[in-house]
Amino acid sequence: MNRSETLPPPPAAPGGRKSGPPRITLLPDRERSLQRRHPWVFSGAVARTDGDPAAGDTVELRSAKGGFLGWGAFSPDSRIRARVWDFHESARIDAAFFAERVRWAVAQRDDIVEPGERPGIRLVHGEADGLPGVVVDRFGDCLVVQLSSAGAVRWREAIVDALVAATGIERVFERSDAEVMALEGIQPRVEALRGGAPDERVAMEEAGLVYEVDVRHGHKTGFYLDQRDNRALLRDLVEDREVLDCFCYSGGFTANALAGGASYVTAVDSSADALAAARRHVHLNGLPEARADFIEADVFAQLRKFRDQGRQFDVIVLDPPKFAPTAAMAERASRGYKDINLWALRLLRPGGLLFTFSCSGGVSRDLFQKIVAGAAADAGTNVRLLHHMSAAADHPVSLGFPEGEYLKGLLCQAV
Ligand code: SAH
Repeated sequence: MNRSETLPPPPAAPGGRKSGPPRITLLPDRERSLQRRHPWVFSGAVARTDGDPAAGDTVELRSAKGGFLGWGAFSPDSRIRARVWDFHESARIDAAFFAERVRWAVAQRDDIVEPGERPGIRLVHGEADGLPGVVVDRFGDCLVVQLSSAGAVRWREAIVDALVAATGIERVFERSDAEVMALEGIQPRVEALRGGAPDERVAMEEAGLVYEVDVRHGHKTGFYLDQRDNRALLRDLVEDREVLDCFCYSGGFTANALAGGASYVTAVDSSADALAAARRHVHLNGLPEARADFIEADVFAQLRKFRDQGRQFDVIVLDPPKFAPTAAMAERASRGYKDINLWALRLLRPGGLLFTFSCSGGVSRDLFQKIVAGAAADAGTNVRLLHHMSAAADHPVSLGFPEGEYLKGLLCQAV
């Protein structure tokens, strides 16, 4: 059977229900979050599962009193037992449903980046696009798909068909190897889905700069598209200034700093591969290589070393990896954020700018701001908050799903 075309026939349900789709019934008074359009059902809210659904199958979600709440995808191995595809009883979850969701999501991106031949843009951003567990990035002529929930995996073919139809792009690569997949009980999968293997490096343009994205081995889907607007902001604020780019990865901030006329850029990352990519991006774009230095080091140690050397900077970027994927790890993460922010503030010249980020789901914007305020107090610096930064508009946040706001940034000035 082609699983993308039809739902499996509903099995006969034990315990009185003779027909109908599989069903999850919630415990009393646990329907509130679904009614507020939060698309997750936690296992602790489930009273009963009827109809023996398999992983990824569509289940009907009902309150304890029997009221319809939504159609969701069943994830038997996850603490998030179901993710809602649609809150309307009349919806039918089939290939046509995914074709329409994907078409709509792609159409919303029309005006977000300037049209070009090789754009870099997130076309599908999970829950905020009504497609939980589905992330799709376009890099030039290649789509990179990440499927991280049982429901998304179940509908892989339909989603990929829909992507090809909506974009006209025929090369689709799957990068489903995020750490969260283990929590979902899903096997990682990294392979070409359509159009054969992508190039070793896929060319992409952003704000007039070219990047070569390693879609096979790069972080996430290969490139941090979410920082697009923040890279542009940095570029506007660095002329004749000395910049330190910590956790530089493939050099997005570094390249923009040089393009914006920075007098010197020091880029630090612990990964030699990342630094090689950053160096290549500077070269590829004809940026002044003599004004850039690439240091392979642990940022925590390197910031202290700069202090010992008496180094100072006008602009510092701190864009570390996720220190706290979940709220349970927030405390340890807070110590990490505080440490790097404290040491960075000590290296800033008076009037200098700090672009500081957290992409930890477990650290709220409020908490992050408190951590940076604590670092400022310990550094003995007055710090002014100039601007809140977020992921770019192709990474929207559904107001019913605030967890989707993972990237928080503060543009601060030390005075
Ligand atoms: N700013 C980048 C994205 C950063 S991703 C961009 O805009 O593209 C986080 C980076 O931190 C990765 O490249 C990883 O290699 C690096 N990293 C992780 N831990 C580190 C550490 N302790 N010291 C230095 N680099 C680290």
